[in-house]
Amino acid sequence: MKILVINSGSSSIKYQLFDMVKEIVVAKGGIQRIGIDNSFLEHETHDGKETRIDRDIPDHGEGIKLLIDVLLDKEYGVISNIDEIDAVGHRVLHGGEKFTESVIIDKEVEKTIEEYCDLGPLHNPHNLTGIRVCKKILPGKPQVAVFDTSFHTTMPPKAFLYALPFEYYEKYKVKRYGFHGTSHRYVSRRCAQLMDKPYEELKIISCHLGNGASIAAVANGKCIDTSMGLTPLEGLVMGTRCGDIDPAIIKFIMEKEGISIEEMDKIMNKKSGLLGISGISNDSRDVSEAAKNGNKRAQMALELFDYRIVKYIGAYIAAMGGADAIVFTAGIGENQWETRENIIEQLGFLGIKLDKEANKVRGEEKEISTPDSKIRVFVIPTNEELMIARDTMALIS
Ligand code: ADP
Repeated sequence: MKILVINSGSSSIKYQLFDMVKEIVVAKGGIQRIGIDNSFLEHETHDGKETRIDRDIPDHGEGIKLLIDVLLDKEYGVISNIDEIDAVGHRVLHGGEKFTESVIIDKEVEKTIEEYCDLGPLHNPHNLTGIRVCKKILPGKPQVAVFDTSFHTTMPPKAFLYALPFEYYEKYKVKRYGFHGTSHRYVSRRCAQLMDKPYEELKIISCHLGNGASIAAVANGKCIDTSMGLTPLEGLVMGTRCGDIDPAIIKFIMEKEGISIEEMDKIMNKKSGLLGISGISNDSRDVSEAAKNGNKRAQMALELFDYRIVKYIGAYIAAMGGADAIVFTAGIGENQWETRENIIEQLGFLGIKLDKEANKVRGEEKEISTPDSKIRVFVIPTNEELMIARDTMALIS
């Protein structure tokens, strides 16, 4: 059983082909700069063969054709016939209120994903293009949509409603949706396995800290709150996003600077966060390096980043009436041990104890708290693609 997982962005497509018998990735790669100059595909196989193809790739259709050709290639390929691909799993950003779990894509599902394009304008249209192109190139193969939002649809109204006039929720479905759901679902489930306890009996705080960052409170196997909102802009300090701010700042800055709402939106999404405060980079490695060399703004940026996480963890422990485990994942969560140390030390008053040596791990699954810690702490590398492949497999079986 082989499943192709597709993550289709505005000018990129990432792919992984899974052999579900052993749950291994037989090949993976990515296409970049679709529709721009210098487009290319990078591909690697399970047994270490790598290739790069530089070619004009004008649209997603050509991109997906090319990646299938590479999967079939005599030298770099891993399948001999297109029929070896049993199904395709697609990452879809926004599933609105309707999609509470992954679904097999039919005409109706496609239409609803299209309707949610206004909620996820930067992603849903491209996710949809990926789905439509795959349907043409792999006719008759089941296609499954796995949504970033669906894990969070279990939140109660007190967590998902904004205190705006209720009519905006009724008319436009303005509410907290939350994102990174596939990642929070994967790491929180994996955490329960590592603790050898039933998922439904645990209170877990999942910290997905990458360029985009969010936290989820998972109580008794269900998400009860998360830091991202209607869009991925709310919540934590991120690489280039501001996260929580006083909404009145928007009008204030727009008037002072004489800028449009589009420009303001761009400032909050692309020019804020670690980049905005440090003035150096959105990449935490660059900011850390500068902070170590004494750059004050870089130091402040990291302090803000960690402090916001500490506040959210505190709030979610209160919301759940306690916590059994905290999980760190994604680029920063998996790799930046200094960030984890700084966060956990600030939570020491709760009886959480970090094993400082165990914490000096990068990109490895590991428990990093001491045996007497009141709340257990784990590093769990995320695997959204595997989760998509598993959902796809479950739905087509
Ligand atoms: P996204 O998927 O949201 O683009 P990632 O999960 O790849 O983001 O995380 C990107 C962040 O992770 C960057 O800030 C980067 O500095 C950090 N990061 C990635 N790898 C490492 C590493 N090996 N050591 C330290 N930081 C890392």
